[in-house]
Amino acid sequence: MRQVSRRSFLTFCGLSTVGLSLDPFDLTGLSRALANPAAPTVLWLQGSGCTGCTMSFLDYISPTAPTDAADVLINYINLAYHPNLSPVAGESVVAIISQVRQAGNFILAVEGGIPTGFNGGACYAWSYDGVEVTFEEAIRDLAPRAAAVLCIGTCAAYGGIPAAPPNPTGVVSVQTLTGRPTINVAGCPPHPTWMVWTIAQLLAGQAITLDSSGRPTAIYGRSVHDRCPLKETDEINTFGVPGRCLKELGCRGPETRANCPIQKWNNGVNWCIGAGAPCHGCTSPTFPGTNALNRQPA
Ligand code: SF4
Ligand code: SF4
Repeated sequence: MRQVSRRSFLTFCGLSTVGLSLDPFDLTGLSRALANPAAPTVLWLQGSGCTGCTMSFLDYISPTAPTDAADVLINYINLAYHPNLSPVAGESVVAIISQVRQAGNFILAVEGGIPTGFNGGACYAWSYDGVEVTFEEAIRDLAPRAAAVLCIGTCAAYGGIPAAPPNPTGVVSVQTLTGRPTINVAGCPPHPTWMVWTIAQLLAGQAITLDSSGRPTAIYGRSVHDRCPLKETDEINTFGVPGRCLKELGCRGPETRANCPIQKWNNGVNWCIGAGAPCHGCTSPTFPGTNALNRQPA
């Protein structure tokens, strides 16, 4: 396990962590954590992915402030740029990113893997003055300058589906590309609360304890199977039988780490196994397969 401490943020932000205890299931301290005008800027970029992580983020909903994704973005986070959500395009984007890069105190949030095949030519980040910049070049340049690098989703964290064989575009994770340890909010997609909680921790200068795959242990500390309500039930070998363990049908809950059984999805309505589908291991470094590809150790 390793701990990522943003003590410099604390000094910079003038925040005290006393009494600011953020738990993924009790986000009452979130407003205080996020309502810091001097907190670092968030720069969100997308590489090789499906934008599903952003879609999941937009589903964020909470009974306490911030109440939804718009509230987070408008009132709490200083979001410099997001490819889908920012009302800018073209060279204005390059100007914003250049400003953020020079200012230095920013969190780089990366969604999607990094294509390295074709000299990075499978994915261009932007162009400026007639020069095309690949996503690979952009991440190589920005990651070392960021105060923290946050991988939003399994593709950025470990390669995910875009890196599955035969991987013709040579997709790798941010850490594989840059060598810099990343904070991995794994999931395909991650739960919206996992993303908001982790960003809030960083903005508040809270230490985040990570497991050996870079995931916050507060969220990924236990296996899905560990807290599955079907744990003691008999296994079935056909779909459509409610209330029975899905292990024989390929459930990967035993080797997958996430708090899905208690967090649930869609504002606590249901989750994969509750809906009769096996856990397919979406938070694992080996997802979607079971063998290591370009992954970090599990
Ligand atoms: S359904 Fe999956 S997670 Fe639940 S008890 Fe069976 S193997 Fe474990
Ligand atoms: S139950 Fe498994 S597949 Fe479903 S969201 Fe959780 S970790 Fe991912």
